[in-house]
Amino acid sequence: MNNGKLKIGIFELTGCAGDALLILDCEKELLDIFKAVDIQVFLMASSEVTDEKLDIALVEGSVSTEKEIEELKDIRERAEVVVAIGICATVGGIQARFTDPKEWENKYKEVYGDIEMTHTKAVPSKPIDAYITVDTYLPGCPIGKDQFLNLFTRVVKGNLPERYPRPVCVTCKYNENDCLLNKGIACLGPLTEDGCGSICPNHNVPCFGCWGPVEGANLTSEYHLLQEKGFDIEAIKKQMANYSGTKLVEFFKQLKKESK
Ligand code: SF4
Ligand code: SF4
Repeated sequence: MNNGKLKIGIFELTGCAGDALLILDCEKELLDIFKAVDIQVFLMASSEVTDEKLDIALVEGSVSTEKEIEELKDIRERAEVVVAIGICATVGGIQARFTDPKEWENKYKEVYGDIEMTHTKAVPSKPIDAYITVDTYLPGCPIGKDQFLNLFTRVVKGNLPERYPRPVCVTCKYNENDCLLNKGIACLGPLTEDGCGSICPNHNVPCFGCWGPVEGANLTSEYHLLQEKGFDIEAIKKQMANYSGTKLVEFFKQLKKESK
């Protein structure tokens, strides 16, 4: 604590920085946030950084270089609580969508050829919990403002929120939307972690899975539901690959196991 204020670091690894921008975009609440806590590191807002111990570290982006592995381990050592924010930190994001390690190597060669990297070496992108223990997660691409403010308030009060355990469909039902699947529109609501308030189907737009795969859903039943409705599972897999990162392979392995 510093003058009674918690020390906070907001860090960006490989990603589009959309989550850090979203935090800055909390214009009405930003002054209150800056008054309530002591922001020690937040490169999107200030070039001043410290290497002091932190109470809470929020980490955006996936781990995609050897340097980032070291940075992340250092963050874990410095911070009491580490929160993964955004889909890249949570599941790896689009840069972690390779289901076969050879695919990553081939793409790397295609882009960089034989150039020798002097700054740092690229490694296949992974979510941050591939390297460190993560205390809680806020998925989304990017995270939502309400969800961020809710999470931040709770973490600052020492009350770590749990993951949303249900698929988007549950909230969609509470919101009394007509199911898009019944209209022949592929919607990833059955396979996606809830938390956004089913915002897309509320506007008649199918869910494209930006909160990543839900853990603990009844995959077999959801899979058969999609099949029964005539949707091709390979097309669903392709669609999911945009946001599921390294969890995509695990997700479909689990599905196969349950289907046996
Ligand atoms: S519209 Fe999408 S999210 Fe809503 S119930 Fe149907 S499949 Fe689920
Ligand atoms: S409905 Fe799906 S795509 Fe839309 S914000 Fe929610 S999780 Fe993301």
